Amino acid sequence: MLIIKNIAELVVVPPGPVPGRKMNHVPCIPSAAMVLEDDRIAWFGSQADLHAPSNAETIDAHGGCVIPGLIDCHTHTVFAGTREAEFVERIQGRSYEEIAQAGGGIRVTVDAVRKATRDELIDLALPRLKRMLTHGVTTVEIKSGYGLTVEDEIKMLQAVKRLAGLQPIELVGTYLAAHTTPREFADRSDAYLDTVFSDTALARIRDERLAEFCDVFCEKTAFSVAQSRRVLTAAKRFGLLPRLHADQITQMGATRLAAEVGALSADHLEHIDDAGIAALNQAGTVAVLLPACSFFLGVPQAPARKLIQADLPVAIATDCNPGSSMVESLPLTLSIACTQMQMTPTECLVAATANAAAALRRNDRIGAIAKRYQSDITILDISSHNRFLYEIGRYFVATVIKAGKVVYRRSA
Ligand SMILES: [Zn+2]
Repeated sequence: MLIIKNIAELVVVPPGPVPGRKMNHVPCIPSAAMVLEDDRIAWFGSQADLHAPSNAETIDAHGGCVIPGLIDCHTHTVFAGTREAEFVERIQGRSYEEIAQAGGGIRVTVDAVRKATRDELIDLALPRLKRMLTHGVTTVEIKSGYGLTVEDEIKMLQAVKRLAGLQPIELVGTYLAAHTTPREFADRSDAYLDTVFSDTALARIRDERLAEFCDVFCEKTAFSVAQSRRVLTAAKRFGLLPRLHADQITQMGATRLAAEVGALSADHLEHIDDAGIAALNQAGTVAVLLPACSFFLGVPQAPARKLIQADLPVAIATDCNPGSSMVESLPLTLSIACTQMQMTPTECLVAATANAAAALRRNDRIGAIAKRYQSDITILDISSHNRFLYEIGRYFVATVIKAGKVVYRRSA
């Protein structure tokens, strides 16, 4: 048994998916306490009502705020190389197309990942995950998509699987071989998809339990709606559930495809239209927004208020990747959502817990402060979650608990 006492504000996020218009209505209990048993939440409420043996192990929250462990449901955290040169070039006005034509862009990351061994990828990602933990994050989804051969994609997913045992954050693998067409298949994208979505490749991913999801970059510069439908359907036969990078740069019906194939989430949505919103609503698909990506690229944000008003469950993730969102901090990403998308801190918190859990099909176990839910808990050293996102870029995380175990404690 583990007791958490002296909580100034316990943010009682309900299990997801939380529909848009309910996202701002989350009860908070002042002067609260919690009882954790094994890996579950056994009780929470007003501290005055706490009944626990006096010798139980206790964490003093010292008047801090308690929230569910944060969930980053869309990242590309396993990668090699760095692209700061391209960052500077873009600031100086070069377009992404010009950079790509000169041999830059995603190709740089693909070359570096292909050269790296699985262990080198692990060594590069481990410190990133350790920093994410210090931001209060307890679950992270990680996609492949920089190998672009069967062997290199599997190498990336094997790295994710090994990383899961090397640090406390729960990891979720996603197969994103349909990220871009590699240069050796230039103008032959169908032939490329045939190789990475062959029955043999998909059976290996299933048999080695390397991924739960299949993702596709459905975009004019990447894969068409028809190609995306084909690979998501193929992957589904091998147990990989669909999700999509949709409507990021152009509107070509990717969101409607997400609904059609029963995707768990449609991600990005900077250019979603009314038909797309209606389709997601019908299908119960989670809308995953990536405000750090638009912030990093200096382009308009997704219409978060419109999606919330339409009652879609909205989630937020970092999209951590070396090209378009070199951002590891989920709290910083949420602060960007507050100031650039007009989402309230409460809505942001729900987006990065309950609704992110729904996007990863874990909403029956994590992402909420609810009885019998897994005790993934982040303790902040400030008295309100509003202040957590208001004081942008500061470290407020004092303690992180994953499945009932203290896995991070900030040193004094
Ligand atoms: Zn992405």
